[in-house]
Amino acid sequence: MLSVSAQTLLAATVLVLLIASLLWLVFAFGLKLQTRASKGMAAANVLLAAALLLSGLRGELERPWLTVYAADLAGTASFVLLSLVPAWLGDERPLWWPSLALGVLALLLMPGFAMGWPMGWHAPVLYCLQAPLLGLATWQAYRLVRSRTRPSFALALSLPLGTLALLLAARAVEPLLWPGNTPDLRAGSGFNVVWLWAGLVLGMVVNSVVAFLVLVQLILRIRKLTMFDPLTDVLNRRAMGRALEQAHARWRRGEPYALVLLDMDHFKALNDSLGHGAGDQALKGLVAALKPCVRDADALGRWGGEEFLALLCDTGLAGAALVAERMRANLEAQPLLWGLDQHRLTASFGIAEVMPGDAGPDAVLLRADQGLYQAKQQGRNLVQSRE
Ligand code: GH3
Ligand code: MG
Ligand code: MG
Repeated sequence: MLSVSAQTLLAATVLVLLIASLLWLVFAFGLKLQTRASKGMAAANVLLAAALLLSGLRGELERPWLTVYAADLAGTASFVLLSLVPAWLGDERPLWWPSLALGVLALLLMPGFAMGWPMGWHAPVLYCLQAPLLGLATWQAYRLVRSRTRPSFALALSLPLGTLALLLAARAVEPLLWPGNTPDLRAGSGFNVVWLWAGLVLGMVVNSVVAFLVLVQLILRIRKLTMFDPLTDVLNRRAMGRALEQAHARWRRGEPYALVLLDMDHFKALNDSLGHGAGDQALKGLVAALKPCVRDADALGRWGGEEFLALLCDTGLAGAALVAERMRANLEAQPLLWGLDQHRLTASFGIAEVMPGDAGPDAVLLRADQGLYQAKQQGRNLVQSRE
């Protein structure tokens, strides 16, 4: 007989897992949020609920293929999915082979226990396969969050998964250290009750953490949409405006900055002769030529149609002239490939540095624009500052 508290806990955990999987289905199909990861979480929760339900039936039902083998496989499959979810969340290709290898090992080894291998070895073998899967999930979750924010935050968010992995590892060694203790979930031993409580709480926490990660990803994506130009993937005018204000505030505390404003030459003619597709391709090519010329601390953005702006931190007019000249030469050296033909791309550049008396970045921009106008006047494909 199941002790009441172990039975209740088991039922509560199954219920929580099923509710969580329903919520994940809403995420996947209703809200279409991170569909692959959400479907993975829904399946992982259902599989774990099935594993717990089936193993809870051991003893009541004399069908070891169902209560032992199917339960073990469902649990392992659930953890295989859990180890893949972080990569799906990060839109990366998951590291399949370690998870798959552990899953296949479970598939091949666990039938032995349905066929009568001593059950004393069941938990050590099963949890030796499942604990590393959760370890993988923990590591992947840590990596995902770490690549986007602080290590302490990554550690805090991957902690529940790590604790669950340690719990499974403890479960693997428990029957070896205390052969008298049964790892059977039906038994109402102190360890089992603690284990089930921990499983219930951690199950909820892990689901909440993954849901939180989905929302964080969503927020980051929305932030990116509001800050970046969709065609060229550099900062848009609004984000550039903010960067300019910040640079001007830093200048008031002593850090200079300079601007490079550039405009493609005869771009209308290129659009008219080759079509907008070629024009768009040329803009991407332009950005590819500009990007290597700016440092990480600088900002590069699309200021208007075929006008781009680079904000150079801690740089004066001489530095800006060097950067702009490198940009000009780089662009000229990378013609647009369209069909079988190559088309030379050039741009004109205006540069300016912040000067005493500049009330805001607009004053610097105005001088850069005047430099650009002069470069156009003097024949294009040139770098100029206001005379
Ligand atoms: P100039 O050398 O004097 O700068 O001549 P221009 O033809 O480059 O200058 P103009 O300002 O007359 O033309 C800009 C053109 O840029 C007009 C517009 O068709 C094109 N353009 C602006 N934004 C985009 C875009 O996102 N995609 C494409 N394909 N074309 C764009
Ligand atoms: Mg223009
Ligand atoms: Mg132009």
